[in-house]
Amino acid sequence: MPLILVTNDDGIHAAGLATLAEALAELGEVWVIAPEREQSACGHALTLHRPVRPVEMGERRFAVNGTPSDCVNLGVLGFLPEPPVLVASGINHGGNLGDDVTYSGTVSASMEATLLGVPSIAVSLLDGGSLADAAAAARLVAMRVLVAGLPPKTLLNVNVPPQSPRGIRLARLGHRVYSDKIVEQRDPRGRSHYWLGGGEPVWAALEGTDMGAIHEGYVSVSPVQLDLTNHAAVARLADWGPALSAQLKGAGERRRQ
Ligand code: MN
Repeated sequence: MPLILVTNDDGIHAAGLATLAEALAELGEVWVIAPEREQSACGHALTLHRPVRPVEMGERRFAVNGTPSDCVNLGVLGFLPEPPVLVASGINHGGNLGDDVTYSGTVSASMEATLLGVPSIAVSLLDGGSLADAAAAARLVAMRVLVAGLPPKTLLNVNVPPQSPRGIRLARLGHRVYSDKIVEQRDPRGRSHYWLGGGEPVWAALEGTDMGAIHEGYVSVSPVQLDLTNHAAVARLADWGPALSAQLKGAGERRRQ
């Protein structure tokens, strides 16, 4: 049986993690390596300043004092008896849509797997949705990835709507409109502190986006690429190179005078 690594950012005890592990059990030998406590919104952080230690919690099930990306590194780079053929992250409690994927520990685990050359899916369930619906969608998408593979440096970000899904739709990532304000409060000693991420998210045009698909009751599947280069801009800004080089040279000459 091929080996499948399951991780998350909600921690080893999260219901979504157990559901995903169970959903993928018929596709391969599932190993779970997950953070010992919740790491939501930790992004792509890696633990480099102290050792990370997997603690066995059950058969093929380990808790790690680290981040989702740490767990993927352990799983892919030698802790498991053989490298996994798939890394599945989730099922996150709450959506990971559009621009918010950059904060997401769930999606970052998939990014790490993708950078390490292992196909990966990230699965998130919007608040109020059913874990059984998310499990069914995750199993179908995972099976498809195992059979058909993924384009290079590309992961699939899957979100499951709060109601029973009408279907599955491929979608681009939506853009968040940053209308959020910070909320200022005062502590009993009169000092200010601030809450981030207080407001309701507002989204730009929904057409063709993951947010739009969710809005209409579909599971969204967004291919996310890890090449962050803006290739059109490399060509468009090409003359900046020689221009800035000349200025750099001129500045150096003035400094030496
Ligand atoms: Mn989470």
